[in-house]
Amino acid sequence: MSASLATATGTAITAIDLPFENSFAELPPAFYTRLMPTPLREPYFVAASARAAQLVGLTAADLAGDDYVAVFTGNTVPTRAAPLSAVYSGHQFGVWAGQLGDGRAILLGELAGPQGPMELQLKGAGMTPYSRMGDGRAVLRSSIREFLCSEAMAALNIPTTRALMITGSDQGVMRETVETSAVCTRMAPSFVRFGSFEHWFYRDKPEQLRTLADYVINTFYPELAGDSNPYTSLLAEVSRRTAHMIAHWQAVGFMHGVMNTDNMSILGLTLDYGPFGFMEAFDSQHICNHTDQQGRYSYANQPQIGHWNCFALGQALLPLIGSLEDAQEALAVYEPAFAAKIDELLHAKLGLELVRDDDHQLFADMFALLQATHVDFTQFFRRLGMLQVEQPELDAPVRDLFIDRDAFDTWAAAYRTRLRMESRNDIARRRAMDGVNPKYVLRNYLAQVAIEKAQKKDFSEVAKLLAILEHPFDEQHEHEAYAALPPDWASHLEVSCSS
Ligand code: AMP
Ligand code: MG
Repeated sequence: MSASLATATGTAITAIDLPFENSFAELPPAFYTRLMPTPLREPYFVAASARAAQLVGLTAADLAGDDYVAVFTGNTVPTRAAPLSAVYSGHQFGVWAGQLGDGRAILLGELAGPQGPMELQLKGAGMTPYSRMGDGRAVLRSSIREFLCSEAMAALNIPTTRALMITGSDQGVMRETVETSAVCTRMAPSFVRFGSFEHWFYRDKPEQLRTLADYVINTFYPELAGDSNPYTSLLAEVSRRTAHMIAHWQAVGFMHGVMNTDNMSILGLTLDYGPFGFMEAFDSQHICNHTDQQGRYSYANQPQIGHWNCFALGQALLPLIGSLEDAQEALAVYEPAFAAKIDELLHAKLGLELVRDDDHQLFADMFALLQATHVDFTQFFRRLGMLQVEQPELDAPVRDLFIDRDAFDTWAAAYRTRLRMESRNDIARRRAMDGVNPKYVLRNYLAQVAIEKAQKKDFSEVAKLLAILEHPFDEQHEHEAYAALPPDWASHLEVSCSS
């Protein structure tokens, strides 16, 4: 297959002729509102992801063209697109919030690609019937954060929605101050959320609930369609996928920040990047979202909140499942799925191939050590790979991260004892650990530097950061600075729900 979408005669396809299909639009009209995006003044290209483009048969070069900039701003609409905004509801911060919906997202339809169809959605393309108090817009700052983090998470092998490109416009948007607008084109096989189901449950509309569930099962979980109760199977499978996704978050120190049920993907993908953060100085109680004063979505709480959200989905699916016991059984999939996945990921992070009963103690002692010393999460695991089993005198790279060297030495002695039971040598173990412990993650300060340059119309840092984050496990010696601890000025950085 060629990298670029080409017509039969071999010429690249123009944006207006993109061969959209519209499977979501084939659902009854109750599920969405058909509408047109609202154009932005004189849009310009900000960034594109070549890897995401490849998933829909496009290239980054295609996306830089004026016709693509116009389409992915919402200023022109491809002939075969059927633009719409979907309705959903949700629990926000544990409280039923009623109807929400795509307040600033417009789905164009789906494009075929090597890994199956991908829906393309314009985030920030204008008001919709679900905008409530919002203006339907997204600012450049938050669009860059969503773009970079989506693609960074994909490179970390974490289930996520993707980001195809960002366009910008000097048209002003009011937040705490006036900022400029942007549109981020997101991609996923589906943007259906837990809240899409809750919507029909709380409106007491079992027919719509069933229509939506059948659509999701037949389109995205066809292997479940023949089960004795496919809706119970759906709940169990979504619970399993959600548990796995959150185990991946914990293992890499990712905090989502707004795990409301309207931000939980029915496909188990990380969805809606807002005030997210990557753990730096370790604190299990860390809250990345300045708006989340109670810490409901702190690092330590994420696994149980994931389960809570699955309960909300289970409640919504109950009329289809029919029996409380069956729903509870499906939800019971979550905890063992999380435990098994985090165990697997922690073994890999520590370079352990064998699984021993007392390994959980080694992990617990490690987290207690990190908590007591507030060592940088990413640097700790990356440098732990350099440890040589029989040469503690060479521990400086990791040991020097600790002010309390004795605390590290105590844990490292137990770790060494455990490593001696393994058969791999230091070199092979380090290679394996480097393949799972990233050197580069999207630290807030790195995003901030790229944002501030972009706000002055220099988009080069966005592209550079994307290129680095596409290879998070490589050493990239020329980019050593991007693995550094946050500078002092970054301690004042706050991210909130404002975007
Ligand atoms: P979020 O917390 O970003 O997932 O958003 C929660 C709800 O608010 C969703 O229904 C969004 O579509 C909506 N929303 C957020 N920002 C805006 C905005 N600027 N304009 C319209 N709706 C918005
Ligand atoms: Mg959302």
